[in-house]
Amino acid sequence: MTNDPRVPGDPHDVYLEYGARSRQPVVPPEDGPSRYLGAGTAAAAEISRGVEALRPELEALAAALHADPETGFDEHRSVRRIATLLQEHGADAEVGAFGLETAFRATAGAGDGPHFAVIAEYDALPGIGHACGHNLIAAIGVGAFLAAVPAVVRLGGRLSLIGTPAEENGGGKEHILRAGGFDDVDAAGMAHPTGGSGTSPIWGERTTGVRRVSVRYRGRAAHAAGTPWLGLNALDAVVTAYQSVAQLRQHILPIDRVHGIITDGGAAPNIVPEQASALFYVRSGEIDTLRALTDRVVAALEGAALATGTVAEIDVDPVPPYLPLEPNVELMRRWAGALGERGWRIPPSPAVPSQSGPSTDMGNVTQFLPAIHPSIGLGGPEDVHPHNAAFADWTLRPAALDAMADAAAALATTAVDYLADPALRAAVGAEFAARGGRYRWSD
Ligand SMILES: [Zn+2]
Ligand SMILES: [Zn+2]
Repeated sequence: MTNDPRVPGDPHDVYLEYGARSRQPVVPPEDGPSRYLGAGTAAAAEISRGVEALRPELEALAAALHADPETGFDEHRSVRRIATLLQEHGADAEVGAFGLETAFRATAGAGDGPHFAVIAEYDALPGIGHACGHNLIAAIGVGAFLAAVPAVVRLGGRLSLIGTPAEENGGGKEHILRAGGFDDVDAAGMAHPTGGSGTSPIWGERTTGVRRVSVRYRGRAAHAAGTPWLGLNALDAVVTAYQSVAQLRQHILPIDRVHGIITDGGAAPNIVPEQASALFYVRSGEIDTLRALTDRVVAALEGAALATGTVAEIDVDPVPPYLPLEPNVELMRRWAGALGERGWRIPPSPAVPSQSGPSTDMGNVTQFLPAIHPSIGLGGPEDVHPHNAAFADWTLRPAALDAMADAAAALATTAVDYLADPALRAAVGAEFAARGGRYRWSD
């Protein structure tokens, strides 16, 4: 007999594993720069010259996207601008790739051999434009791709630029994964602008995964003063659910986050709300803890229906889940080394990448193949940060555009190093396999 209320398969079981696992170093033990040759200094210099030559057009692209922001899956003019620029440099982009109107792919190099994909995002935030800096992500991606093409054509391998819509609200990369868009890709990378100098996250952070859970409660309307005993109050169900999730929050892991809003609270105080709804974001730093926390949140939402006599309609994953991001450290070493060559101060690599709270659909890519998503600081004040309107304007400051050019060159160098150096590719692949290898989300 036990007084432990858990049953086999209880979601809490994964928390027992978490403590030990979270202290495991996920990076190869030796510190410092990459040990591999890559493509050599001549290729890196060629890439740097290529980025400098492209820079006026990259800056114009970043400014044009900033001036005409489009939100997820609606980025038609943005994609057209990118495709036009690629075309002017002899690269044909397939717009509407992977069954998504605002996705695209351009490819250079030989049909077989290793394949690296540079990732571009270009969706904006509703109301505050390019406050996540995806206009610069597009410029970095286009610059990296075009600057790397000559070296790729000469040295071998294949390089793609994959344009992924709706990072902010739709999980474009998971849609592309499901359409097989990454099946023939061996490694991938992108860079994301951030505030400040950005030296601390230069090694890349793990990010949480996120699942959306929406709930609508259905009760029964009644006059709130005349016949309240006839009512079943759906707003009470939402409030009970919200309180239950708030109580749950005290007993979740340090890598977990959960937050929600009430999206419908009824029509008028004198009508017992017949319908009410809420939306929660459930986040965690690992896939199994993300599943476990989601189960616990769903149980809290179901409990609120029982308590209030209402019916809960719960929708888990109305958009695809974003999975935790795991940077490939061998690729990060190439990125950091290339930035160091351009004058960036590179701190020692941490034994365990730091963990950040937000999420990105690039996480899904890093679970599927070795990939990186480093942050690049735009040199702004510490309080000018992504998802703040001031950050959108900061992306066009001279310091931000310098960072854009450096990121484009470092990303291109990383890609060309990967394609040119079989020993580096083997190390990148071995690290990915040691972490568990290819993971594809399924319910
Ligand atoms: Zn964002
Ligand atoms: Zn972003």
